[in-house]
Amino acid sequence: MDHFQYRDGALHAEDVPLETLAATVGTPAYVYSTATLTRHYRVLRDALEAHACLKGALVAFAVKANSNLAVLATLAREGSGADTVSEGEIRRALAAGVPADRIIFSGVGKTDGELAFAIAAGVRQINVESAAELDRLIAVAAAAGAAPAVALRVNPKVGAGGHAKITTGGEGDKFGVPADEALALYARAAASPHVVPVGLACHIGSQITDLAPLEAAFRLLADMTRTLRSQGLEVTRLDLGGGLGVPYSGGAQTASPADYAAMTARVLDGLEVEAAFEPGRLLAANAGVLLSRVIQITERADGRRFLVLDAAMNDLVRPAMYDAFHEVKPVVARDGDPRPYDIVGPVCETGDTFARGRPLPPLAAGDLVVFTGAGAYGAVMSSEYNTRPLVPEVLVDGPRHAVVRPRPTWAEMLARDHVPEWLR
Ligand code: PLP
Repeated sequence: MDHFQYRDGALHAEDVPLETLAATVGTPAYVYSTATLTRHYRVLRDALEAHACLKGALVAFAVKANSNLAVLATLAREGSGADTVSEGEIRRALAAGVPADRIIFSGVGKTDGELAFAIAAGVRQINVESAAELDRLIAVAAAAGAAPAVALRVNPKVGAGGHAKITTGGEGDKFGVPADEALALYARAAASPHVVPVGLACHIGSQITDLAPLEAAFRLLADMTRTLRSQGLEVTRLDLGGGLGVPYSGGAQTASPADYAAMTARVLDGLEVEAAFEPGRLLAANAGVLLSRVIQITERADGRRFLVLDAAMNDLVRPAMYDAFHEVKPVVARDGDPRPYDIVGPVCETGDTFARGRPLPPLAAGDLVVFTGAGAYGAVMSSEYNTRPLVPEVLVDGPRHAVVRPRPTWAEMLARDHVPEWLR
């Protein structure tokens, strides 16, 4: 459930009409709902807390899904930790008030500098993804005189997710240590005085709607935990990643947080481990919309009708990159029979097409629409391609709102480049 609802025919974000935001902030703009973010966090947390073996589990929001400081602060206030994949994301999590001991540092290509930064910051654990990385981490930790907690990210050979580009647990994917190499690597970590192996981690993909692949991966981690313990090695934590999908369209079926928690509890029951989860999309996707205005409607003699918006692929790249579906809704409910539109932006690429033949009520230039489900992997993936200003972000909380990332001015954009002396 989300808090973007029609009231008297006008779409609101909580108590704020989206028309008001378009008038004050301009379009395109991302709009996030505090009540939806906190609701999604609580639904997952409560689902986990309902099982004895998951009590106190860490929910570490995947910062890559939405790294706006206001969004992170909203979730931090609820008790969320942070799953991070760069020094920048660790800095954002800390700046938003996430305690260091609730920050997980993941990622396949952490630099020595980033590892040193994470150690100095005192993050909860570093998820190591390869033997080469373990060796570098040991060297960096030794130089710092530290012994950070480490989890080994296992590649369980179970790929899953809504698109090949967001599947991460398959055998050929770059992520994690193959399960058959992980046991020996864990023992190697345990033999070093410079790292403390505390457990195993996995993340098999994103927008996963069926629990079976997740369960297969979790069972593998549970089995590996028993094997490592039988070898006298300590395993106290399992980081089960993120990946649970969301319904991008009204009728879509996805496994619920309650079913996900019940499945996880069945797998972990009796194992005596601290569990951690790294949801991104699940918490943020349906807590945000991209608000856009119709520039014009281009009608062709062959009957094709293009809805040309002021939002483009540089603002929301998921349809171009992953063929992703986002529902499009008029901000002011319109009467009239739906007609098919090709929904496009102004960027000079055919890929700048959000949808083809999408049925919508009759619309006109100047009308406002929203893309729903845009709160995750939306603004974070935006760019200034075609020298379009970076899309602003707005956070709504009940009747109030704040611009939490302003649209840059033309002067700010141009001032970032420098023309060398010899060209002046
Ligand atoms: N954890 C890791 C290591 C990831 O790579 C990702 C996303 O790619 C996530 C968590 C979050 O995934 P999702 O947004 O599908 O929950």
